[in-house]
Amino acid sequence: MGLVPTSFTHDVIIIGQGLAGTVLSETLAQRGKRVMVFDAPRPGRASHVAAGLVNPVSLRRTVLTWRASEMLAIAGAFYRDLGLQYDTAFWHPTPLAVLFPTAQEAGIWQLRMKDPEMMRFLRLDTSADPALDQLPQPYGRGIIDRSAWVDVSKMLEAYRAQALAAGELEERSIEASDIRRSDDGVELLGRTAPLLVHCSGPFAQVDGLVQVKGEGLTVRIPDLHATKAIHRGVFMLPVGDEVYRVGSTFAWNDVWSGPSADAQRYLLDRLERLVEREVEVLDHWCGVRPASKDRRPILGRVGRHEVVFNGLGSRGVVLAPWCAQHLCDHVFEGAELDEAVRPDRFIG
Ligand SMILES: Cc1cc2nc3c(=O)[nH]c(=O)nc-3n(C[C@H](O)[C@H](O)[C@H](O)COP(=O)(O)OP(=O)(O)OC[C@H]3O[C@@H](n4cnc5c(N)ncnc54)[C@H](O)[C@@H]3O)c2cc1C
Repeated sequence: MGLVPTSFTHDVIIIGQGLAGTVLSETLAQRGKRVMVFDAPRPGRASHVAAGLVNPVSLRRTVLTWRASEMLAIAGAFYRDLGLQYDTAFWHPTPLAVLFPTAQEAGIWQLRMKDPEMMRFLRLDTSADPALDQLPQPYGRGIIDRSAWVDVSKMLEAYRAQALAAGELEERSIEASDIRRSDDGVELLGRTAPLLVHCSGPFAQVDGLVQVKGEGLTVRIPDLHATKAIHRGVFMLPVGDEVYRVGSTFAWNDVWSGPSADAQRYLLDRLERLVEREVEVLDHWCGVRPASKDRRPILGRVGRHEVVFNGLGSRGVVLAPWCAQHLCDHVFEGAELDEAVRPDRFIG
């Protein structure tokens, strides 16, 4: 007899309840799969500090992000449906106002607006907006109407409470020695399944994974009541009552060192230049993004009964629903895995 019985307690076991594990678990449940999740909160985890911004345009180069239209459509539908399921809203459409820092950037924006694909995403904004009009913007501003923010913490907590109550989540740290493999599947702390999915984020040992530290602030900005997200050097996401989430920094060294005074100063400098007033810092958050060398997710088989779901980088919110669908189609329906996400692409 094999180590793992052929009648399994679950269809899928997942390690990690960040964005990857949560979105995958919900996607599997929608497909009728029995899922067991193990997670132990670790300092530096990414999803709990994610600002939750969904922005289909890379502002560094004013180009659409990877498969922007498809990702956005799938993400919007997924988070809206999940909100209905939990009777709460996770997906908040929020236009993003980009205040051009130079005349050159304003010119590039206008040029890009002529591109047939980009014109659905970008426009110039000359309408009156009492909050935005207070901010310095000698070169004007553009608007990305199809951006949004997802209340990631609320979603993770809603899933956690439900899964704990249903016995589908155990808050436990998994060591490599806890995983027992056989010809049929895996066993983990008394649970068995034909498939184990590693959603361990920045803590994983995966080829091509790059850990990128990010920090942000929650601040109160007196007398600024913006309804749009704002970008000029930093992102500002209004969360109500003069309160904003501001971020984020990117650092590739010393990623586990926690919140730093340097990052706080960097963000505050940029923010105070943008809003031209002193702000009150309410919170300082820090995490490590699980990015990849080529900025694409890392998805697919890494063992006979094991799969990895990682590499969500700085855009996990918009990528996770597409990744979960794609992974399920691949594993359960035999659909071809997209070359861009293959986990073996970094080997050799
Ligand atoms: C400051 C900051 C701001 C960000 N802002 C945005 C944003 O605005 N929009 C956006 O789209 N993305 C944003 N991101 C990126 C986003 O957070 C990530 O892409 C995403 O959260 C990664 O999710 P994950 O599930 O892969 O990893 P994680 O969230 O780190 O989840 C991994 C989980 O697995 C657990 N775990 C790991 N190993 C084990 C083990 N052996 N046993 C048990 N549990 C284990 C960890 O404790 C953790 O709970 C931001 C990231 C940071 C750091």
